[in-house]
Amino acid sequence: MPNYLADKPRLCIDPGHGGYDPGAVGNGLQEKDITLAICLQLKPMLEFNGIDVCLTRDGDYAPGHLENQLNNELNYRSIISNNFGADLFVSIHINSGGGTGEEILISGTGGKGEDAADKLLYYLQQVDGWANRGVKVQNVSVLGGKTNASAILTENGFIDSAADTAKLKDSNYIHSLVVAHAKGICDYFGLTYKEGVVFKVADVPKKVIDPNDIYLSVRVLEPLADQAIKDINKLGFAAKRMDLA
Ligand SMILES: [Zn+2]
Repeated sequence: MPNYLADKPRLCIDPGHGGYDPGAVGNGLQEKDITLAICLQLKPMLEFNGIDVCLTRDGDYAPGHLENQLNNELNYRSIISNNFGADLFVSIHINSGGGTGEEILISGTGGKGEDAADKLLYYLQQVDGWANRGVKVQNVSVLGGKTNASAILTENGFIDSAADTAKLKDSNYIHSLVVAHAKGICDYFGLTYKEGVVFKVADVPKKVIDPNDIYLSVRVLEPLADQAIKDINKLGFAAKRMDLA
């Protein structure tokens, strides 16, 4: 079979929490909703900029959830990233516990993770009114040994800060946070950020799972699309072409 994908940098974006786990809660907001909204905007923006992107979740659910086994869940996010062959893993969170502003967590200094964190922080601190708390080394599960890619975790404001949540409730502010992430990630991969996709999520979509059916989306270069459908049909599966603008 032909190689359907050109060689592009690969990124796994991880919207923190989800499903039964709301993450931090405060001032009428749940962390899981904001992290998903940010990531659903970030993905098409980065794809437009020539990066292959996978999400660890694309709806309000906990990937890999097994009752009372949080470690399995966190490992599952690493497994999604590893199976995708990600070069960089970016986990998106909202902080809590009495503070204000933006910080980025890494597992250790001196590596590519620190480089990515520095690049992102450069753009994030230009977002109007965001206090800069810097890059910090912290022992966080998804940043640790299970994730093969260089990994960072961005903490975007404090959910228990009235000033921060006022910003996080503003869709334009969320959009500037997304653009700052996109610019930092492009910079890390040596790409010049191109403005092109304006995609705002008004409502967070809900994941509907039919246990009898599974849908896989396959992205291929346009000239190969019709051949790819034929090849998939030959394997005995239904396939449909969808041209995404
Ligand atoms: Zn979190």
